[in-house]
Amino acid sequence: MVQEPVVAYFSMEIGLDTSIPTYAGGLGVLAGDTIRSAADMEIPMVAVTLLHRHGYFHQRLDEHGHQSEEPVVWSVEESLERLDLRVTLEIEGRPVEIGVWRYHVTGVTGFQVPVYLLYTDLPENAEQDRPITDALYGGDAHYRLCQETVLGLGGVKMLRALGYDQIARFHLNEGHAALIVLALIEEQLAAKGDGGSVTSELVEVVQDQCVFTTHTPVPAGHDQFPGELVRRVIGDQRFEWLEPLTGDRVLNLTELALRASRFVNGVAMSHRESSLEMFPGYPIHSITNGVHSRMWTSPPFQALYDRYLPDWRRDGLSLRYAINIPKEEIWAAHTEAKRALLEHVNRETRSNFQQDVLTIGFARRATAYKRAYLVVRDLGRLREIAATAGRVQFVFAGKAHPRDYEGKEIIRLLHQARDEIRDDVPIAYLPNYDMESAKLLCAGSDIWLNTPMPPLEASGTSGMKAALNGVPSLSVLDGWWVEGHVDGVTGWAIGERGEPTQEFDPKSDDSAAAALYDKLEHAVIPCFYNQRNRFIEMMRYTISLNGSFFNTERMIWQYLHRAYQIHRGQRAPDGVGP
Ligand SMILES: *Cc1c(COP(=O)(O)O)cnc(C)c1O
Repeated sequence: MVQEPVVAYFSMEIGLDTSIPTYAGGLGVLAGDTIRSAADMEIPMVAVTLLHRHGYFHQRLDEHGHQSEEPVVWSVEESLERLDLRVTLEIEGRPVEIGVWRYHVTGVTGFQVPVYLLYTDLPENAEQDRPITDALYGGDAHYRLCQETVLGLGGVKMLRALGYDQIARFHLNEGHAALIVLALIEEQLAAKGDGGSVTSELVEVVQDQCVFTTHTPVPAGHDQFPGELVRRVIGDQRFEWLEPLTGDRVLNLTELALRASRFVNGVAMSHRESSLEMFPGYPIHSITNGVHSRMWTSPPFQALYDRYLPDWRRDGLSLRYAINIPKEEIWAAHTEAKRALLEHVNRETRSNFQQDVLTIGFARRATAYKRAYLVVRDLGRLREIAATAGRVQFVFAGKAHPRDYEGKEIIRLLHQARDEIRDDVPIAYLPNYDMESAKLLCAGSDIWLNTPMPPLEASGTSGMKAALNGVPSLSVLDGWWVEGHVDGVTGWAIGERGEPTQEFDPKSDDSAAAALYDKLEHAVIPCFYNQRNRFIEMMRYTISLNGSFFNTERMIWQYLHRAYQIHRGQRAPDGVGP
């Protein structure tokens, strides 16, 4: 018997499984981890997203690092269950039929959270409407708006058609899901029966149902659409219903969500600060992201935790006690995780990585602000450090969005650096970064590197995956690392924490690179080679302080307690809540 869901979690992308390529990066992986933890914790939740039948692409790299994109072949039929249910939504004055597939995420106790994936590729639909749900982050503004209409308006409609009429909270992730608000307005108007108008009381009823998490720290990352386009897609009537919340010139989905939600949060404390700057006047809170502990812990560390902290699979806080695990055993588990990574790297990239050489990992979307190039900015300096302080090898991975030409250029640049420095500092670029390779990379590196341009890393989560495996971070102070770093204990900071700014400063690359080289030369490399005991102690602190905290289990407790507050909701069933 499945409990009545009280939280409906909406996200444009959800990383359900490596074999289901309906995610592009951090947002999708976070959504997947959230749902996995909700299932573990038996939180009555349902999730809604789009099917993305074309998936996010398969990345191919030639020897010079030129990326080409290939469609991912995956079998929807084998991965998901098709439900015999349709809803109809009017888009551009045409009726668009929406169908649905279901996937169950099963938690440690067998509890399941259903995920509904909407699609419009139905023969009944007009040619131009059939591909609406096919491509994740493809197409132009019009395509995106149609997708967001299907997700928000279609999603709520579908949940009702599925019989979920007791949902206490809708969790809007990113502006993409903001048209949920419109669906809830329509429901209220319909309940009143007289057509009516969007009064402030009505907005309050909607607000009570909505929780909004923003994930983007720069204005350009927030979807907005010209009023005319919105009118055309959703129709005049609906556009007018939105007007009290949005004005009539542009539809900024983040602002819509901000105005219509009872609780709004950024995804790290520093992200809250930059969000407050961007959207002054809104009470924006912070709930820092996490990762799903079991999913991201490598098999050797799983076995180790099973032996010493047998409750860790149900209770992520148990990892606090990793501080008592003997150091030799931490090192043995790490050695095994590292071997698995190096075997993979050597096989996939025909490199010759050595087990005893300090291995630094860097994997994330290839896009300008992540600055993967920082560590190869001065090859002379890097070569000298390797020759004097100690040997080091780097493994990179990451896809560039098909139209992110800067991102593609960064991948090419890293290949060029690899060829130039080949004899002194081995560099490998693993193609087709996905959740599977992320597991190997985050667990098997000795150090996890992150060099974003502050404040653009809203949170970042791969360093948290590394922490679960005792891998310390070497990172610029941005996103979660502002909270997670204790210099010389859980890793190292690169540079100081600057004032949050929305502007690129080209000089900051030089100073960040210099700070990175200094830390490598004087702190990281000597610690790894000459103070192995201390290094392993740092690994233990990393698990104990950061692995135990930066997980989605803690994150969901915070959402329950501060955002969902189901126990206070009028419509929530008895006995549910923190
Ligand atoms: C964890 C993960 C990300 C997000 O990592 P960041 O550190 O937030 O950039 C992106 N892609 C994949 C495949 C991941 O597993």
